[in-house]
Amino acid sequence: MAKIVCVLYDDPVTGDPKTYARDSLPRLERYPDGQTLPTPRAIDFQPGTLLGSVSGELGLRKYLESNGHKLVVTSSKDGADSVLDRELHDAEIVISQPFWPAYMTAERIARAPRLKMIVTAGIGSDHTDLQAAMERGVTVAEVTYCNSNSVAEHVVMMTLSLVRNYIPSYNRVVKGGWNIADCVQRSYDLEGMQVGSVAAGRIGLRVLRLLKPFDVKLHYLDRHRLPEAIEKELHLTHHSSLESLTKVCDVVSLNCPLHPETEHMINAQSLKNFKRGAYLINTARGKLCDRDAVAAALESGQLAGYAGDVWFPQPAPKDHPWRSMPHHGMTPHISGTSLSAQARYAAGTREILECYFENRPIRDEYLIVQGGKLAGVGAHSYSAGNATKGSEEAARFRK
Ligand code: NAD
Repeated sequence: MAKIVCVLYDDPVTGDPKTYARDSLPRLERYPDGQTLPTPRAIDFQPGTLLGSVSGELGLRKYLESNGHKLVVTSSKDGADSVLDRELHDAEIVISQPFWPAYMTAERIARAPRLKMIVTAGIGSDHTDLQAAMERGVTVAEVTYCNSNSVAEHVVMMTLSLVRNYIPSYNRVVKGGWNIADCVQRSYDLEGMQVGSVAAGRIGLRVLRLLKPFDVKLHYLDRHRLPEAIEKELHLTHHSSLESLTKVCDVVSLNCPLHPETEHMINAQSLKNFKRGAYLINTARGKLCDRDAVAAALESGQLAGYAGDVWFPQPAPKDHPWRSMPHHGMTPHISGTSLSAQARYAAGTREILECYFENRPIRDEYLIVQGGKLAGVGAHSYSAGNATKGSEEAARFRK
């Protein structure tokens, strides 16, 4: 029997919904590169319902309990008195989602002697100290591709919202106003702008493809260059440095994972190389950016807008400056946890658990760390080391 601790975000304040806005989800067979969607033997949930919050339990309870395992589900994850901390001592598997991350620091891993696997129900495993996982021989797996397209859609929405000044204009209507000049004094067309993606992996490439029909000029930076045919098809300009990309772009979208090489890549110094009035969209990870440097760049006008859904730590303390800085379009971390995405990553988590318990290999593309080293997508997209430093500040969030 294994104990699985699953950290999920809180249920809606009004309780689990009795009905949903829509009755079904579109049926998808494959992701754009041909990878199949998750293939668990079965699922015990209704796709299109809330699975990522505590009551949804990622649809795992029946499967795990019927196989003799113990499932603990909690949203209490930060601070020494958290349920996560109390349950770690005999946990074999810890599951959490990046939206409400269980920060699996070296200290926590050390206090979990039976821990064998950490699963990210979603994409992005920077909330686990990957160095510590490698050193302890703990497997880290995530559900690659499950919400990449969800996030790319969000990037398009945020880009248009900032450039066209949507959020302030919407708020003016809600408040009963009609002053058009106030709305449009910061409103532009995206058409003709130079748009750059930092990374052209699953999300970055999708963003570039989705934005292409707006007749923008596209740029990218990635440590793995795209095939020439894709560069030609999208008329992409490849850059080999952040400075070269930000010097020419009006919109910059961050789409790389957080790891020691990318931590704080956007800082006071690198922001000086942006065009004045650029828009920065970050749905990748909060810690790619220096928090105070972003707020200062919005105050000074160096950036015309900043939007995204990722913060550090999460949940962000009430006094986090990104809640109150000018010209931002921030939301809580939601882009990868639409009801559509939840169905995919709940199924993918179940697939990973089935493989683990049946001693079958976990798909290579789901692996971040295995056998003491970066593996699968981890070897392609991450660098060794730790990016969880400072996560204890999440305990300062108060509901
Ligand atoms: P991916 O592995 O397909 O792509 C990552 C890309 O980043 C790769 O092409 C890799 O070469 C590139 N990269 C890595 N380090 C780099 C560096 N130093 N410089 C330039 N490029 C670098 O992953 P993906 O599906 O596109 O997801 C990317 C990230 O987006 C995730 O790791 C996660 O942090 C974030 N994400 C956020 C959400 C959300 O809800 N906001 C959801 C999913 C993923």
